[in-house]
Amino acid sequence: MNEKDIINLEEKLMANVYAKRSLVLTRGKGALVWDINGKEYVDCTGSYGVCVVGHSHPKVVDAVRRQAETLISCHSSFYNDVRSELLLKITQITPKVLSKVFLANSGAEAVECAIKVARKFSGKPEIIAMMGAFHGKTMGALSATWDKKYREPFKPLVPEFKHVPPNNPEKVREAITEKTAAILVEPIRGEGGIRIPPKDFLSGLREICDETGVLLIFDEVQTGFGRTGKFFAFEHWNVVPDILCLAKSVAGGLPIGMTIAKEDVMSSFKVGEHSTTFGGNPLVCAAACAAIDVLVEEKLPERAATLGRYFKEKLEDLQARHRVVREVRGLGLMIGMEFRFDVLNIILKSMERGVLVLDAGRNILRFLPPLVIKREHINRVIAVLDTVMEEEKE
Ligand SMILES: *Cc1c(COP(=O)(O)O)cnc(C)c1O
Repeated sequence: MNEKDIINLEEKLMANVYAKRSLVLTRGKGALVWDINGKEYVDCTGSYGVCVVGHSHPKVVDAVRRQAETLISCHSSFYNDVRSELLLKITQITPKVLSKVFLANSGAEAVECAIKVARKFSGKPEIIAMMGAFHGKTMGALSATWDKKYREPFKPLVPEFKHVPPNNPEKVREAITEKTAAILVEPIRGEGGIRIPPKDFLSGLREICDETGVLLIFDEVQTGFGRTGKFFAFEHWNVVPDILCLAKSVAGGLPIGMTIAKEDVMSSFKVGEHSTTFGGNPLVCAAACAAIDVLVEEKLPERAATLGRYFKEKLEDLQARHRVVREVRGLGLMIGMEFRFDVLNIILKSMERGVLVLDAGRNILRFLPPLVIKREHINRVIAVLDTVMEEEKE
């Protein structure tokens, strides 16, 4: 099928819910992807932060190939060798207290499980989330998501969710009532514009939760798994949640969601109270085992820290050269660049010149490249942005 036919078919047959870019991608390796015409791109979208270990990492490919030949399906009502291996590997990189795992297939599902188990454990209904938060688009997760344009058309949402201003622990304390089950928060807001909290915010929340018995849920679907320069973003602030949500990057590009909770919290679920058919299927578990090995062996969190600093410095140089940038912010290889204007043109023009970047709101460029990205790729991104920003000024 040629480029035009592919685009036409997706336009015609697929639900039109994605803001499409007119690019047909057919191949990827590390931090690079290629379109159907063989043109190369540096991928700073990382498939929305999924490709932490890079596109088609050889170890992930090998694990998937071997597992596909062995056993693809095995419902979690049976035991399985690679699933148990994954549970062991993941709990070896999480803090000790986070020791019981529910396996699902997406970020929204990881959040759904967190909401349900918080309600079950506490016997209370209310979830406090942050203004500006993004937690996914299924009805429960959507109820915790802030953006009106995602919420309004689908009301009524799940009751007993409320949003408070982020960054101020006292505002959260004031919002807690006798009905509150949990506080749900992204350590760094991703969709919300790469917003890093003030130093004492997360530790303040931890204190409040310890005092009141309210559960603390961290949604690290975007920030987790090495992205910010640590295995998990909460390590930057030395705060451990009661429930941790992971997804996007954990299975080397295959669909996965994980909710990891304290033993007593997760054990409040009785048999049958939560489940999903594909959760913990061996193919994905094998990919996730390989991805965790790669993360550890290739020291990708450290790499994200080092290259993230480099990338950010280069972006700050651009900020100084072109007076169109308000702020560059980020941790590790999760970086935002806030402009004084809409960034759509910058995104499209960069794409023409072989660089793929994301937005996060109208005026913020977002970089979530694979952590295996090379310095020369970052240099290429900077050179392209330099040219495009020069053009945009005119
Ligand atoms: C992407 C994302 C989700 C939703 O994940 P899906 O796999 O798209 O359902 C939830 N929370 C955060 C912080 C995310 O970045």
